[in-house]
Parts: sequence; C-alpha cells; structure tokens
Amino acid sequence: MAALLERIRGIVTEFGGRIAHVGSGGSMTYQELWQRAVALAAQIHGPDPSSPVMVRGHKEPEMLVGFLGSVMAGRAYIPVDNSLPEARIERIIATAAPVAVFTTKDIQERTSHWQDQPAFALPVAADTDPFYIIFTSGSTGDPKGVVITHGCLAAFVDWMLAEQSFVPGAEVFLNQAPFSFDLSVMDLYLSLLTGGTLFSLTKDDIANPRELYAKLRTSGVTAWVSTPSFAQMCLVEKSFNPEMLPDMRSFLFCGEALAHKTASGLLTRFPNAQVWNTYGPTEATVATTSVLVDAALLASHDPLPIGWERPGTMVNIRRPDGTPADDGERGEIVIRGANVSPGYLGRPDLTEKAFFDEDGQRAYRTGDRGYAQGGLLFFEGRMDFQVKVRGHRIELGDVETHVREVAGVVDAVVLPVERRGVCESLAAFVVMRDRAEGSDFAAAQALRESLAARIPDYMIPRKVIFLEAFPLTPNGKADRKALAAQLG
Ligand code: AMP
Repeated sequence: MAALLERIRGIVTEFGGRIAHVGSGGSMTYQELWQRAVALAAQIHGPDPSSPVMVRGHKEPEMLVGFLGSVMAGRAYIPVDNSLPEARIERIIATAAPVAVFTTKDIQERTSHWQDQPAFALPVAADTDPFYIIFTSGSTGDPKGVVITHGCLAAFVDWMLAEQSFVPGAEVFLNQAPFSFDLSVMDLYLSLLTGGTLFSLTKDDIANPRELYAKLRTSGVTAWVSTPSFAQMCLVEKSFNPEMLPDMRSFLFCGEALAHKTASGLLTRFPNAQVWNTYGPTEATVATTSVLVDAALLASHDPLPIGWERPGTMVNIRRPDGTPADDGERGEIVIRGANVSPGYLGRPDLTEKAFFDEDGQRAYRTGDRGYAQGGLLFFEGRMDFQVKVRGHRIELGDVETHVREVAGVVDAVVLPVERRGVCESLAAFVVMRDRAEGSDFAAAQALRESLAARIPDYMIPRKVIFLEAFPLTPNGKADRKALAAQLG
C-alpha cells in the first residue's frame, strides 16, 4: 500500500476540483489544499526533521494545509485548538520544542502564492516516522504528547476503509471534534483518503442550536463522526431526522460510552443509516474495536459492547499479573499492534509505565476495565482517576495540580459529578489559606477565573466546595469516598 501522502496525492489527481473542507472562514478544494500544503512544506523543509510543527487554530481549512504541509516536509504536526489557554500551549511548546508555531493566518499568508507551485518530491516516510502528536491530559498537570506514526495512522485508516463501504468522491464527513482531539483523525483522514468533503462544525455552531441545525441542513453529511454526547444532544431536536440530513448513511462513534438510548434513538430517527460503536484511546490511534449496532444488538445488549478487535490488532483482557483473563473475567484492556503509539513525546518515564513490547509488537495498557465474551469486548470504566466529560479526556490529577497552584489554595481534590454512571462535570473540594471575607460563590468564581488562564474550559470544575480540612482515611490521605458522598 502506498504511503499516506501518496494516496492523498492520488485523490487530489482524481478529485482536485472537489471541496476538501468546509470550515470556518470558507472552503477549499483538494487542488488548493494540496498546493498550499506544498507551498508551506517548501518553507519548513530542512534540517532537524524530528522537530515538529505546531498548528494553531480552530476549524479553518488552513489547519489542514498546516497538517499536510508539515508531513510533506517530513515533520510531525501538533494540532492545537484555539480554545486552549496560552499557559497550556506554552507547556506543550516546552515539551515538544517545535521548529515552528503557525496560526492559520500565518499559513494563509505563507501560502498565498499557491497557484504557482513547482513540482514537489514527497519525502519517503518510514512507518516509524511520526505523523502527528496529540497532547492529552496528564495526571501531574503537564499535558502528554502521544506520538502517532505513519504506520499507526495507515493501520487505523486501512481498517476503517476496509470495514466501511465509503463511496469515493461522494462522501461528506461530519467533523465535530476539534482537531486537537484524536476523534477528528477519523473524519479527517477517512475524508481525505476517499475524496470526501470534510464538513466542520465550529465551537460557536455547537453552542448555538439554531445555527447548528441550519448548518446541518445545508451540509449534505453522509458519514457522521462525533462523540455520542453530541449526537444525544442533537436527538433532543425533533427535526433532527432524514429530512434535515437526507443522505445520512452512517453514524460513527468513539471516545466515550455509546448509550443504548442514543443508538436506539438514532436508529428510530434514521432507519436507513447504520450506527457503529468504536472504542480506543489516542495511544492506539483513535479506535481499535468496532461493532455495528443494529436492532438485534440493541435487543440483546444493554449496556452496548465496544466491539470486536480489528484484524491485525490484539485487544485482550489482562489480569493484574499480565496473564490473559478467561472469557467473562474482568481485567484491564490491553491493545497490541501496528496502531499502537511508540509512546509519549519526551517522556520515557510515562512511556515505560504504559507501553511495552510483546511478540515484536508495541502494546499499551489502557487503564480501562473490561471483559470479553466470545471475543466481543465490553467496557466497564476506568481503573484510575481519568474521566470523560462529554468525550473530553481529563485526568483528575491534572485539574487538581492546577487548582493547587491558584494563589491561596492549600489543597484540592477534584471528583467527577456523575448522573446514571455518566460524568457530567467536575467538582473541586478546596482548602484555602486566609480566605478573604466574602461569599463562597464569589470565591468559587474567582477560582474558576484563575483556572481559565491555565486549563481548557471543559476541565474547569463547575462546582467548588470550600472546606476547612479534608476528611482523612486511616492512612492520612484525603478521603475521596467521603468527599464523593457529599456530592450525593
Ligand atoms: P481518548 O484518548 O480521548 O480517545 O480517550 C480514550 C478513552 O475513552 C478510552 O481509554 C476509554 O476510557 C474511553 N472510550 C473511548 N471509546 C469508548 C467507547 N466506545 N466506550 C466507552 N469508553 C470509550
């Protein structure tokens, strides 16, 4: 199979005039996307190719130019969404030492002469060369960069393309997730490799239902890729049905549990579409298991399974001593195969804890608890303090570190606020030194404001509870169970 960039070049040759991306600020054809990427690559091609490029923005077509241009120059890219606070971006820059940091405006300016580009020789990429690096929450407050290679990404897209029957040159993929979240890799590369149109929703579209549904109506989406939470939100709208989206053929989910009611709601509204549940961490390139959720599966399973391992990848359940669990026995989900990342950028300590080599392949301990029944896998939550809020991956320790760094805070414990087993938001229990006079409401507001400068919105605790001291366990640690009980 030709290298990914070669394959995309083939798509450009075949579908050059087709719209590759409809994003914020406009749309771009395949031809323009490719030519602009070539123009950018020519400028960042050079020594020290191991140094990546950071691409900052939101849903502009120039983001795609930045991604492809970096890879054409033999460099990995780091997608950074505009919603990240500057302080967090600086931490990422400190870890990744990028050769360049481009905003979408920079990219637009640097590639304005895209129409007259000379022929460009694509680099010969090895499977082990990094393609992108996605930063995700780290338990000590520093985001960790998951390195995804050309080989990882090719393994992932090849599975998806073999499993799904996309029609070349005829699909419109919904892009809901920001490009800094690996779910977007699913829609982005499936689209680019099938000559599809990537149709992006912006943060503002999502926050404004009128805009959102009006936009969906014009989208022509055929393949929906989003978190289940987002689809569940859309189901609240009565007109979210085949009249709004007449060409919808498949819903592809990943990133958090797909609730039975979401899948059944979608199949009722869109009887001619398929619903797929896929599962996997960023460390194993988007998704590693999948299952078609049809009427029979809905009738036989609640909660829904996360699927079967994809061909070529081993996903199994391990006991604490690393031996394989029996059918039906609970344990940790371990993934091994070509889609598993080599590890975290510049963090051999973290890499060693979670990754290992086995039978000549890279393997990753997910920290997810689950079991398998006749090969079908089920997810049962986390073994640690990682949570998902509307699909966003958050280490509670990450938030705690930043709350503790706010002036006046002595100690903090952050817990999930759950409803029917789903984490809806976060709560922070905070002990402060010399708290100024005033209401808890005002103090909570001030704390949240300080946090907004350090961590993304979705990580900011909605609820803040001030305590004089934490209840302690017999061995002197903050008693998280007793605190959770206060959340009711
Ligand atoms: P991320 O790296 O942001 O994709 O998050 C990966 C984590 O999300 C996994 O380790 C799981 O805990 C959770 N996750 C992903 N997909 C699913 C799914 N289909 N069902 C349940 N949990 C999921």
